[in-house]
Amino acid sequence: ASEPRSPYRVVLLGASGVGKTAFASIFAGAADSMDSDNCELYEMCEKVIEVDGEPAAVTLLDTWDTDSEWAQECYMQTGDAYLLLYSITDRASFLRASELRITLRRFRPAQHTPIILVGNKCDLVRRREVSVSEGRTCAAVFDCKFIETSAAMQHNVWEAFRGIVRQLRLRRDSK
Ligand code: GDP
Repeated sequence: ASEPRSPYRVVLLGASGVGKTAFASIFAGAADSMDSDNCELYEMCEKVIEVDGEPAAVTLLDTWDTDSEWAQECYMQTGDAYLLLYSITDRASFLRASELRITLRRFRPAQHTPIILVGNKCDLVRRREVSVSEGRTCAAVFDCKFIETSAAMQHNVWEAFRGIVRQLRLRRDSK
């Protein structure tokens, strides 16, 4: 039997209103929950999810309402990996994501920390302010992965969670 591993700590970052709580509640509401009692508070939820046929223990941390810089910097030091969210309907949140990426680099300079840039609310087609190619280009510049999601439609949200686990595994295996 393989030895138990401590859960991967995945942190949700992003401006207020981009959908972090929506992501956290989708994660917390997963049907294959092993310990849903831990998830009454969405701010921190631990769960075993299956990725590529293998279980992965994940603790998801939601930075909730904290636009306090101090609190966000705390979160930036606690994660093994980050989902960096913006809303495709809100250009300011896209710029905020870039700033957060730069700040993250300060806290995570040495190792290659898995980060996915997430353009959420892709269901709101007519309110789009940030194009897919802008998102993709930004991710390329920042050397991270990119995905567009809709928490409202539950589109690609699990793909993002699985993507971050895959990157964490790659990093772990290359150690
Ligand atoms: P947070 O401040 O980052 O935690 O953002 P919330 O998760 O509270 O979401 C802010 C608002 O956007 C809420 O009214 C959500 O219902 C809505 N929202 C979140 N994700 C989506 C999405 O993918 N599509 C749409 N249309 N609305 C969303």
